[in-house]
Amino acid sequence: MYKIYFLIFLSFITLTHRLNSQNKVNEKNKKIVIAHRGASGYLPEHTLEAKSMAYAMNADYLEQDLVLSKDDIPIVIHDIYLDDITDVEAKFPEKIRDDGHFYVIDFSYNELLQLNVTERFDPKTKKAVFENRFPVGKSNFKLHSFQDEIELIQGLNKSTGKNIGIYPEIKNPKFHRENKKDISKIVLKILNDYGYKNKTDNCILQCFDATELKRIRNDLKSELFLTQLIEIPGQEELISEYATYADAVGPWIKLLIAGYDKNGKIIFSDLVKDAHVAGLKVHAFTLRADQLGDFPSFEKLLDFGLNVAGVDGVFTDFPDKVVDFVNK
Ligand code: CA
Repeated sequence: MYKIYFLIFLSFITLTHRLNSQNKVNEKNKKIVIAHRGASGYLPEHTLEAKSMAYAMNADYLEQDLVLSKDDIPIVIHDIYLDDITDVEAKFPEKIRDDGHFYVIDFSYNELLQLNVTERFDPKTKKAVFENRFPVGKSNFKLHSFQDEIELIQGLNKSTGKNIGIYPEIKNPKFHRENKKDISKIVLKILNDYGYKNKTDNCILQCFDATELKRIRNDLKSELFLTQLIEIPGQEELISEYATYADAVGPWIKLLIAGYDKNGKIIFSDLVKDAHVAGLKVHAFTLRADQLGDFPSFEKLLDFGLNVAGVDGVFTDFPDKVVDFVNK
């Protein structure tokens, strides 16, 4: 008799526990759409215009890649170089380094604001990287700070009543350290100042550098939702290690495919399964309607990532198309 009561009691405890932890993660449970560099399939990446468009398309999160200026302002830009999205070569030819690059870190914030931003191009050929996107060299776009972008998103959250999140990435912390800059500390301070402090605040912080992300959790004591980015095959074997400090992994979509069988059917890697067993979400990058790889259509690629492989969110240059897909 006692045994039965005990068993009922035990299952009650387990159920309550499960419900509680479900409530806790509920916020991040829906399949999420992350606007990769904004609506970058339609407008030059990381411009405030591309962010406004992604916001209007109802992405769940807008991504910010962050690199410090000479005077320690985090700039929203994908590379540590300015070469392939600005007119830096024409405006500051003397600032070229011996390796042929113009580095964000060699420019003050005010100098950076003088540059015009354009659709991504190859500096050697001057040709667009994606030829059917926004034309290179047209209209008038500028760089901006992380603070400016947060204020844009928080401002829109106020004026529209929506609650769209930010998904900042610390770029190349090692390079910053070599240049005597602690980018993570600077970014965490800004996040804190703007109210992004823990997992219920609408912010996910990402980094490729595992040592740095671990430092952000353990030494810098961040309580934010953290995503460990991975792009090299073999890194997925470290999933249980990532689970000690991160909340999600962000794999390159190709890491979900281990190969193909003799009928051409995809053989999945264990990445998504292992991540879920370890309690980690999976946010895969980057799904592009104009870069389909082996997939016959964007729909098929989205079906593979979101339904078949079962990831929890995707980074995309085309947030409107993915929002439509997820809502269907
Ligand atoms: Ca990024």
